[in-house]
Amino acid sequence: MSFIQSLLFLRCPKCRTGKMFQHKPYSFKGITSLNKSCPHCNTSYQLEPSFFYGSMYVSYALGVALAVAVYVLLLLLGLGQYALTSFFIIATAIVVLAPYVYQLSKVVWASFFIKYDPKKSIKN
Ligand SMILES: [Zn+2]
Repeated sequence: MSFIQSLLFLRCPKCRTGKMFQHKPYSFKGITSLNKSCPHCNTSYQLEPSFFYGSMYVSYALGVALAVAVYVLLLLLGLGQYALTSFFIIATAIVVLAPYVYQLSKVVWASFFIKYDPKKSIKN
C-alpha cells in the first residue's frame, strides 16, 4: 500500500496494514476510537502524553485545503460569484467531511513521527 493510500484508508504509519481506529469515520459508534497500538504490528500510537494534540494543526490545514478546493470547484462550475451560496456549500462540505478529516488528521500527524517499516507490513 502506498503512502497516500495508507493515509486515505487511515492505516498505521509503521506497517500501512493495521487500522488506526476501531470504527469507521461515519459509523458514529466511536469516531474517537483510536487504538492504543496497531492491531497488526503492535506499534504504540501514544509516543508521549497528549501526543495527538498536534493533530489539531493538521485538521485546520485540511479544513482550509478542503474549503479552497470546494471554492475552486465552484468557480469552475460558474457558481463562485454567489458569495452566500458559496459559503453554505463550503460550510456543508466541511461539516459533512468533519468525521473523516478528524481521523485523517490523526493519521497524518502520527505519520510525521512514525516511520514506515516495510518489514512490519509482511503478513504473519
Ligand atoms: Zn501497524
